[in-house]
Amino acid sequence: MTADLVVVGAGFFGLTVAERVASELGLEVLVIDRRNHIGGNAYSERDAETGIEVHKYGAHLFHTSNERVWEYVNRFTTFTDYVHKVYGVHNGEVYSLPINLATINQFFRANLTPDEARSLIQEQAGELAGSDPQNLNDKGIQLIGRPLYEAFIKHYTGKQWQTDPKNLPAGIISRLPVRYNYDNRYFNDTYEGLPTDGYTAWIERMADHPNITVQLSTDFFDESQPLNKKDLVGTVPIIYTGPVDRYFDYAEGELSWRTIDFEQEVLETGDFQGTSVVNYNDAETPFTRIIEPRHFHPERGYQTEKTVIMREFSRFAESGDEPYYPINTADDRQKMLAYRDLAKAESSVLFGGRLGTYKYLDMHMAIGSALTMYDNKIKPHFSDGTPLESGGVDA
Ligand code: FAD
Ligand code: UDP
Repeated sequence: MTADLVVVGAGFFGLTVAERVASELGLEVLVIDRRNHIGGNAYSERDAETGIEVHKYGAHLFHTSNERVWEYVNRFTTFTDYVHKVYGVHNGEVYSLPINLATINQFFRANLTPDEARSLIQEQAGELAGSDPQNLNDKGIQLIGRPLYEAFIKHYTGKQWQTDPKNLPAGIISRLPVRYNYDNRYFNDTYEGLPTDGYTAWIERMADHPNITVQLSTDFFDESQPLNKKDLVGTVPIIYTGPVDRYFDYAEGELSWRTIDFEQEVLETGDFQGTSVVNYNDAETPFTRIIEPRHFHPERGYQTEKTVIMREFSRFAESGDEPYYPINTADDRQKMLAYRDLAKAESSVLFGGRLGTYKYLDMHMAIGSALTMYDNKIKPHFSDGTPLESGGVDA
């Protein structure tokens, strides 16, 4: 083992750390991943039959307001001018999402001005006025009133999380803007777009450095191969971006995750739904949404005979499933406190990324948090010997 640093997980978090350490410090980095490709959940590939780029682990839309992250990611890729918009089907009708004046007026069969709509929603949210809701149910009702909440949020959230919205953190719903105008951009961020040559080209450029070695199909917990936890921990600094509970062999219990089953289909039409994402907000439809990836890249001029669609079915992750979304119930948060203490005691290992911190991080947040860990912990360690253990699970 000649590497100065081992990174477990070739997702955005792990590769950002690897790239910084290799490029700026000139050190040797070994990145391992149990999958047979790099990129973590942002990986995408061309569908063989249609030539359309498909995000294998679910649609990935890049957006950020973080200047540093935007400057950093632009070193590896340019971005298209794609602006994400989402539509939702409720009671057999298509509505514009996130909730905006078009949604409100269509739902109430009205022609309200922004001020009138605001008063109407205020009135409907009155039952929770002035409170500080801590769960998704109450937060949702406070934001948009009960009728809109029940139409667009309640059942979709039920399908997506299979958890009573009263037991989900309010933060999940605060991700979505509510607007009293006709702006239906899904994200509020300063910058958004899709990587011009696709996610995989972007990610490959991050890993393309003579000081970075990537070893795929290598599970950190598989003791039959040499790059395993038992043999490595204590011999070399490690950045671990896999699930934090798995690292400690579930000593404090299993954290709950949601996974998604993707049903991918090629259809004999040039356009199935006219847009990239349609949510199905009612309980009767078993899937949460349909993605049609051709619409992510209108500038590519894909063939028009066939299209690809992906239906998403959400469920609790069981052992062997891909852990996608941390559910973060009160019980999970309790367990995380204990895992944080265990992580602090691992003096040569830092935990990062979505799985390693059990946080609902978007790509720009994972990259931003990796840059911060590099600045605050990794660079000082290699530059002047500051112990890594000031680390633990990255905040
Ligand atoms: P990951 O990408 O999960 O990478 C972790 C890596 O660690 C994986 O490659 C995994 O194989 C590897 N690993 C795990 N265990 C081991 C082990 N034992 N040994 C070796 N390797 C291991 N973000 C957005 O900004 N916009 C979006 O639209 C968006 N949509 C999303 C949709 C879905 C369905 C999901 C799941 C996520 C979405 N995200 C989105 C979030 C985005 O995927 C993450 O922010 C990003 O992938 C985080 O990078 P990461 O490196 O922390 O984790
Ligand atoms: N949500 C909803 N209805 C919608 C869209 C979103 O209830 O039509 C809720 C749901 O709980 C979801 C959360 O808002 O988990 C955040 O939505 P987002 O689209 O950001 O979810 P993600 O892209 O992470 O799946």
